[in-house]
Amino acid sequence: MLGLMQEHPLLVSSILRHAARHHRGAKIVSADAEGVVSRSTWPDVEQGAAKLAQALIRRGVKPGERIATLGWNSREHLELYYAVSGMGAVLHTVNPRLFPDQIVHILEDAGDTHLFVDPAVLPALMAVAGRLPKSLRAVVLMRPAPLPDLPVEVLEQGALCAAESGDYGWPELDERSASSLCYTSGTTGMPKGVLYSHRSTVLHAMASIQPDVFALSALDVAMPVVPMFHVNAWGIPYAAPMAGASLVLPGPKLDPASLFRLFEEEGVTFSAGVPTIWTLLLQWLGADPSRKFAKPPRLVVGGTALPVSVTGGFLGEYGVNILHAWGMTEISPLGSVNSRKAENADWDAARFLDYSRKQGRPQFGVDFRVLDGSGKPIAQDEVAFGELEVRGHWVAAGYFNHESDPAVTEDGWFRTGDVVTLDALGEIEIVDRAKDVIKSGGEWISSITLENLAMGHPDVALAAAIPVHHPKWDERPLLLVVRRDGTDPTPESILAVLEGKVAKWWMPDRVEFVETLPLTATGKLWKAELKRQWKDFSLPG
Ligand code: ADP
Repeated sequence: MLGLMQEHPLLVSSILRHAARHHRGAKIVSADAEGVVSRSTWPDVEQGAAKLAQALIRRGVKPGERIATLGWNSREHLELYYAVSGMGAVLHTVNPRLFPDQIVHILEDAGDTHLFVDPAVLPALMAVAGRLPKSLRAVVLMRPAPLPDLPVEVLEQGALCAAESGDYGWPELDERSASSLCYTSGTTGMPKGVLYSHRSTVLHAMASIQPDVFALSALDVAMPVVPMFHVNAWGIPYAAPMAGASLVLPGPKLDPASLFRLFEEEGVTFSAGVPTIWTLLLQWLGADPSRKFAKPPRLVVGGTALPVSVTGGFLGEYGVNILHAWGMTEISPLGSVNSRKAENADWDAARFLDYSRKQGRPQFGVDFRVLDGSGKPIAQDEVAFGELEVRGHWVAAGYFNHESDPAVTEDGWFRTGDVVTLDALGEIEIVDRAKDVIKSGGEWISSITLENLAMGHPDVALAAAIPVHHPKWDERPLLLVVRRDGTDPTPESILAVLEGKVAKWWMPDRVEFVETLPLTATGKLWKAELKRQWKDFSLPG
């Protein structure tokens, strides 16, 4: 027998409509490239999005058509999020930090017809001006600026909407229809498109506002520092209006002083970003004892491993709690969080701090499995490791233009490429990405463990462990180190930090000092490039 309950499609537009009706007092603050803020409300955003949807329809944009954006976190970008998905088209957020070849590839692959550009990132567009895809009909500047010379029509977002009334009813779409498209950052080769649906986006937002995840309420002032082109700013532009929270969009200025000003002046209670952002903020705060939060915000970190020293610094000095989360473009992105539960509720701060290096457990809606080489679940002993596989309501079933992909197993699990251990509490700890582990004589060495330990040396600014060729063991670890300014550590002193903390055969065979280490467009160590640079380096037998 079927239940007798109503059924409505889960639509992105319903989130904005809810906030605009029931949370009229929440504020939307948007900072521009000069740090000047403009203020609006959820009803204003709905009006703006409705006008933009009307303008797109007037231009002939059809459901399913891809509309690209190249821009920072701003009100204009927020209105695009809702206008494009709300009318049934697909919002394709492009990371302006990608290499020109990658931008060309993904605009082409997506077949975008319109490209909305923040004037602050015009150079990223001009770098590919001669190679725009044939599908592209117009470039629209998100804010007023001199119109660039391009081989397609160039418009301005305000002017585009000027004639529209805003009197628009959001259509009842199929909840399974595509709402947005985001490409992986290309750490693993050419970027591939992940095509989110209305349903997956709404369910992901519902899960993300839960108490053990972002814990968002109508009283929160949320500031996504993570860019709106990086997995939809981890879903915060959907989660905040769903909770009725206020939203602060920091624009292109993400230096610690600008961020701290927004935290204080706008009363930000919740923020999310990658480790680099919080590491820089902590260093900046520490440089002047008068820099203290009036009210400590809650922070979320993810994207790469976070040094426990940063979590500890924020908690110890500023009373700021950092929640460690793990995710991927393919998982919308939230996969797991490390918040307390019954088993560790009474651990003291120091013990939980050490534990917070782990990526945690899945929230309801995603499921994990970790199998060994013979297909059996690995032991929950923090030693055995295997590749993490996930499935759930907001996990990719394939890629745009590559519907069947080896990343999805025959029985429907997504292979993350992350190698993890499990502990007795069932929490994961990422030891490496499958392609980055160092295979010494057939045994695996975790590059992340070596890097994290090396970063514990006071003179080490950044470290990367990569495999180099060895005649006997095939691969052995090489540790590349960027020194902190004004210091001159010896290789021996760095190796001494690792001594006793890893098995003897895990110890790097060589430490080399370098000026910089290459980073990907999302600020992660670019291992593929490093391996290419050092491919001819061979250790003596
Ligand atoms: P890309 O796969 O192109 O780098 P993503 O932004 O989707 O782009 O990155 C997802 C990957 O980032 C994960 O598979 C994992 O390796 C890494 N990652 C994400 N969060 C964490 C975390 N908290 N700790 C360690 N690694 C993380």
